[in-house]
Formats: sequence, structure tokens, C-alpha cells
Amino acid sequence: MFGRASKKSDGMRYYEILGVSKNASQDDLKKAYKKAAIKNHPDKGGDPEKFKELAQAYEVLSNPEKREIYDQYGEDALKEGMGGGGGHDPFDIFQSFFGGSPFGGGGSSRGRRQRRGEDVVKPLKVSLEDLYLGTTKKLSLSRNVLCSKCKGKGSKSGDSMNCSGCQGTGMKVTIRHLGPSMIQQMQQPCNECKGTGETISDKDRCPQCKGEKVVQEKKVLEVIVEKGMQNGQKIKFPGEADEAPDSVTGDVVFVIQQKDHPKFKRKGEDLFVEHTLSLIEALCGFQFALTHLDGRQLLIKTNPGEVVKPDSFKAINDEGMPVYQRPFMKGKLYIHFSVNFPESLSAEQMKALEAVLPPKPSSSKLSDMEVDECEETTMHDVNIEEEMRRKQQQAQGEAHEEDEDMHGGGPQRVQCAQQ
Ligand SMILES: [Zn+2]
Ligand SMILES: [Zn+2]
Repeated sequence: MFGRASKKSDGMRYYEILGVSKNASQDDLKKAYKKAAIKNHPDKGGDPEKFKELAQAYEVLSNPEKREIYDQYGEDALKEGMGGGGGHDPFDIFQSFFGGSPFGGGGSSRGRRQRRGEDVVKPLKVSLEDLYLGTTKKLSLSRNVLCSKCKGKGSKSGDSMNCSGCQGTGMKVTIRHLGPSMIQQMQQPCNECKGTGETISDKDRCPQCKGEKVVQEKKVLEVIVEKGMQNGQKIKFPGEADEAPDSVTGDVVFVIQQKDHPKFKRKGEDLFVEHTLSLIEALCGFQFALTHLDGRQLLIKTNPGEVVKPDSFKAINDEGMPVYQRPFMKGKLYIHFSVNFPESLSAEQMKALEAVLPPKPSSSKLSDMEVDECEETTMHDVNIEEEMRRKQQQAQGEAHEEDEDMHGGGPQRVQCAQQ
């Protein structure tokens, strides 16, 4: 059976609707959708909203590219790509899954309202430089287009005949004997006509598409990446997905994936850069050239007499990322300073420093008697991050053991998963 996800989170809802785990296989998804869709079909008195949700969840998760985007960015990233947020007609998805009605009767799939073709959603990797300057990427993709010779009919005459394999229903019924008094009736899309219910005679077949109605076409799309576009933003080409007879062509949608940059980190419209100073630079001032994303050299320098403290930030206005569709506005460039201190000092160096630095605070001057009353200690170096991590792991290990004790193993969980 399928485990029910226990916690709600953004990229989980579709998995919960179908009642499958996040690493469910295509087979798991199919089984889960099939079972739930039959149970919730409005024709069988099910809730139309629930039925629609199931179709939407299945449509996304059964498509590896959409699933990847969903896992990474959640539902919103797919909304636009799915055709105005409404998604496909849930009855179309149901029909394309079963190839017809699973309730018997096997109504013809022809003569229905126009279905909408699948959208093609593709990730588009873009460098930070390209998002700063804007760029055009040429991407070639191959897609199905209606055959120009037969205008998508598949035949020279424009006619077709009812498929003899399924009598034009598009469905084939097979009966399996499961036991002495049990049979299972299965409906599957007809293999001879691929579920369309029609065939074209050999003589009448269109020579260009061989009766397939569509031909492959290579097309180059010019994707304009505008200045300031964000990670996860979509660029849409309406009606550029696969064409199919009697259907509205879906869109090709590119989703921007911003590549990591070795020097700059981006947060919205702002850029962050790390810079390490020597102690003398931190105390007595510095200047250096910073190469920006567009190749310009920025002169970064302190004011006379200014001291830069370790772990401090400074900002430069208007040197961040351009604002999307307002490219003359830019965010800030933040510089995060670290200071490299010398490992040790000689006696002369210390003497020289004491002569110029502000005096030590009075609290560090103890009398001999006060020192005698104290206990001696020894300090040693630590890597604090590593120590904290180790402690946290220890604590988690213990919590995990407790957890196991409380739940007492598997069988109970299986019970909880029953509806
Ligand atoms: Zn057929
Ligand atoms: Zn043709």
C-alpha cells in the first residue's frame, strides 16, 4: 500500500493528493491515480473538485520534467506553464489515462470538444552575467507539426474508416480469468489505431506523413533572457509545443535556473561579495579593484583614517542586479569583510604596537595577590562549527532512538495509513 505523507509542506501537496510518497515510481503514481480517479469520478457521485485535483497532481508528477520543477519550486512555478493556472481538463486526463470510459460502454472518443495539447516545460540554465546584462539564447527543439500535405488528416482523400480492431470505439476489451468464478474485464486503448478509433487504408495513406497526421520539425526558438530575471522565472512560447489533430497546441515554457557564480551571490536585486583584508589594511586603509559582472573594474577604497572591523558589511548603491523590466534601477552591492590576523607577534612588535594603540583596559591589570587567588587554566584552539555540529548529531541520534522506541516498529504505521 502507499504510505501517507505525514507532514504538510509546499512541494508535497500533489504527493498527498495522490497518497504516495515523494519518491514514488511512475508505476506507483499510475496505480494511485487510477484507484483514486475511479473512486472520485463525478459520474460515480464523486466530488468534482477532488477529481480535478487528482488529475492536476497526476499530470504534473507523471511528467518527469514537470515533476522536477515542482519538487524544486512548488506549484506556483508550474501554474503559468499549465495554461493559465487552470491546468488541463480533468476529464481529458482521465480519458487519456483509460483511453475511454472505465465504466464500460466504451463511448467513442471522437467528436468531443477540442482537447489541449501538453505544455513542454524545460529548465534553462543561465549565468549570473547573462542575467545582469541580458542575453538571447538560441535553442533548437524538434516537435510534431500537422502534416502540410494532408492537413493532419493522414489520408489523401481526407477520409478515414472505422478501425476494424475496435469497431471505431478506440478501446479494446480483454477478459482475464483470475480464478474459477472470477474474471477481470480490462479496457485498453486499441493498439491498431492507437485509441483514435479510425484507420486509413494503405492506398489512401498520405505519402508525406505515412498516415501519422503529423511530421517532425526542427525549430530554433530565440529565448530572450531579460536583465534582472529571477531564478524560477518562466519564459513562454504560446502554441509551440507538439501539434496534434483536433487539439489546441500547448506552450513551450522555459524556466530560468540561475547558475552559481564563483564570486557573487545574489539575493533578489542585491549582490554579495566576500573580501579578506590583512590586519594592516583593516587598520590603515586599503584599495582594490573588483571586476563586476559586466567586466567593469570598480575601485573599492576606504576613507582616510577609517578602520574596517572583522565580519562587517559595507554597501555600494546601484551596483547590484538590475531590476526586471526597470533595468536602469539596480540593487546594492554588499561587501562582507574578513580580517586576517597575524598568528603571533614578536616582543619588539608588541612593544611597538603598545606604544601606538590605545592602552589596555584597567580590568586586564591584576595585582600579584589577585593572581595568586585565582585558579590556573589552559585555553586551547577549537573549531567551534565542527564542535556544535558534532553535538547536534549526538542529540539527533538520541532523539531517533527514542522515536523508534515509542512507535515500536512497522505494523502500527501500516494501520495508520489505511483510509
Ligand atoms: Zn482501433
Ligand atoms: Zn500527411
